[in-house]
Amino acid sequence: MTVLVCSDLDRTLIYSAAAFALDGPDETMPRLLCVEFYQGAPLSYVTETAAQTLEALARAATFVPTTTRTPEQYRRVHLLEKPPAYAICANGGHLLVDGVDDPAWSAEVRSQLDSACAPLTEVQNHLVNLGGEFVLKRRTASDLFAYTVVDRTALPAGWVEDLSGWCAERGWRTSLQGRKVYCLPASLTKSTAAAEVARRTGASRTLAAGDSLLDIDLLESADAAVRPAHGELHGAGWTSPATVVTASCGIIAGEEIAGRLLDLVTSE
Ligand SMILES: [Mg+2]
Repeated sequence: MTVLVCSDLDRTLIYSAAAFALDGPDETMPRLLCVEFYQGAPLSYVTETAAQTLEALARAATFVPTTTRTPEQYRRVHLLEKPPAYAICANGGHLLVDGVDDPAWSAEVRSQLDSACAPLTEVQNHLVNLGGEFVLKRRTASDLFAYTVVDRTALPAGWVEDLSGWCAERGWRTSLQGRKVYCLPASLTKSTAAAEVARRTGASRTLAAGDSLLDIDLLESADAAVRPAHGELHGAGWTSPATVVTASCGIIAGEEIAGRLLDLVTSE
């Protein structure tokens, strides 16, 4: 029986130093493995235990990294010794098969979006017009969605909520993750791409993990799911009958998520 394990990466399995949330005596600090280099410096980590658990998970199930990162951003992450056969990028907008972008899937996703939501340029223009000195960068990803990098300490109360309302009227949605505010078409979902991978692999059971609003559809569509006790969903108090919340938070929650997913696979 093929089990599909679709997991978000950032702040679910992999962590930047800003998201470690490690405290306690020095001697209890776990050893960490760097899984992402960016511009010549280490950026993302897992604990050594998490790395070993993920290797076991990838042997026992079809493990599918399921991320909002673009394919380029995803390719910087070296989570496993042998790269996974499938990876979902751009929140479902790209499906990588053996590391290669599947053009048919990209075309399919884009054709579905066109009629369902306002064009990306309208959202980009709105973000420019909104201005704000707390906005450090404005970016688009895969010609599908937009994100801004903000100074969280200077982000005015209600700014994200107002943007969410504006987006909702145009078939878009928002997510606030760390320093990034994402604006995505509502119909661009991880779960749609996960269903496609399930179809292609003949998977009979799907497990999922994620920490943000963009992961809700993935968690809800899975047979069982895990989310960390930190992040956007935790802040919102979100839960569902099939979703377990970790006991730990920060990078230790990443290790716990890997362990819980492996337990779910091996307890079949
Ligand atoms: Mg995440």
